Amino acid sequence: MMECVSVCVVVLMMSAARGHSLRFNDLTDYVNKHQEEYVQALRDWVSIESDSSDVTKRAELQRMMGVVEEKLREMKGNVDVMDVGTQTLEDGSIIPLPKVVTAAFGEDENKHTVCVYGHVDVQPARREDGWATDPYNLTEINGNLYGRGASDNKAPVLAWIHAVEAYKALDMELPVNVKFLIEGMEETGSNGLDVLVAAQRDAFFSDVDYIVISDCGWQSARPALTYGTRGNAYFYAQVEGPKQDLHSGVDGGAVIEPMTDLIAILDTLISASGEILIPGVTDAVANFTEEERKIYEEVDFDMETYRRTIGVERLMYDNKVDLLAHLWRFPTVSIHGIEGAFSGHGTKTVIPAKVTAKFSIRQVPNMEPAVVEKQVTDHLHAVFEQRKSPNKLKVKMVIGAKPWLADIKHALYEAGKRAVKRVFGVEPELIREGGTIPIARTFQDVTEKDIIMLPIGGFDDGLHSQNEKISRYNYIEGTKLFIAYLHEVSHIKKD
Ligand SMILES: [Zn+2]
Repeated sequence: MMECVSVCVVVLMMSAARGHSLRFNDLTDYVNKHQEEYVQALRDWVSIESDSSDVTKRAELQRMMGVVEEKLREMKGNVDVMDVGTQTLEDGSIIPLPKVVTAAFGEDENKHTVCVYGHVDVQPARREDGWATDPYNLTEINGNLYGRGASDNKAPVLAWIHAVEAYKALDMELPVNVKFLIEGMEETGSNGLDVLVAAQRDAFFSDVDYIVISDCGWQSARPALTYGTRGNAYFYAQVEGPKQDLHSGVDGGAVIEPMTDLIAILDTLISASGEILIPGVTDAVANFTEEERKIYEEVDFDMETYRRTIGVERLMYDNKVDLLAHLWRFPTVSIHGIEGAFSGHGTKTVIPAKVTAKFSIRQVPNMEPAVVEKQVTDHLHAVFEQRKSPNKLKVKMVIGAKPWLADIKHALYEAGKRAVKRVFGVEPELIREGGTIPIARTFQDVTEKDIIMLPIGGFDDGLHSQNEKISRYNYIEGTKLFIAYLHEVSHIKKD
């Protein structure tokens, strides 16, 4: 009897300490009942052409930020709109950057505070690029919601908003305090955000315990937690020759053409078998451990499906682990384009006077972009020197984003596993992202908070490409995942 009483008391005390027990079924019922509204909200957001790379669309982007602000105000959040300064365009004109919208829900000191980061700007999209539907008119086909920004990153941002809204609508106390930080320049490199994060380190971020980013996707049909992203060192290499473009029929043979120089030096960056040829660049790369290999073996990744999806005859590696390793945790060189080169239809015989190659090297632990910058610059100049060309070479690193890596043993990841289990009934895969989300590293370095990437996008959502989509399933179940995640984070022991 005595025993029973003390056990009961302990149980009571525990549930009191944890606040409300989770009425998860009520919350998921609420989400199910409101899913048409959620889809409509996504349709409204997608209809705004918030393309941050096109300055002629800046008014639309500003309107998008206004819609986010309005929504968070309606939900009675403590909303703040933060100025991140101006942007200087290539023609020298200066325009204001879209303001960053922040909001806070709850300020209970006894609870953890989670900051959700997201962005509502999008990549460019035009029907003529090969979209089957109007990219700015969300269209549902076979359970998929097609539209620019649907998966990257409008649906995930809305899912987070709806997760908080569901708790409030059911008059349930939020298990943690939730803050939002929503920006509008992510697709062009989060201009101004670094400065804002540094300035807000001891203000907005002072009471934040954890940062959650949902700006990526799963690797397969199985839900995933993302624990690393590659950084990127992006270069311009410019060769300048004659004062003006020449004509091959008249001047060809009289000069070493800038394009010839450029192609020659580009050909010294990477071998046909994928080996980076720039001296020293791979020296710093962290060793591929047995433990990592085991994680990679667990990942549900079908090489054949991947090969077919991207449409190639043969992949560079013939087994899953090596392929994933080269997608996620080894650097690679990619050549993206040549500015100034003739690229139109037909057979123009022009000799361009000035050409600029654009290439990038993905960065992984423990590479340092500043070191890579010197190695690449030295290498290209050395190769160029050997050609004894009268032309001029200029090399410049224009982006130097560091990689990001989280500790998968951290309580945030344990909470993620529990939330995935609760909603999807499976263990999540632990994955890394081959692309770059520079803000993750900035958050880590500047705020020193723990970060998790909790994606809800599908593996085949086509971010940045034609026919981007998110499935209704991922969007709605993703909302439930965020609801569950807030609850699971509240169980992390306060230190
Ligand atoms: Zn994104």
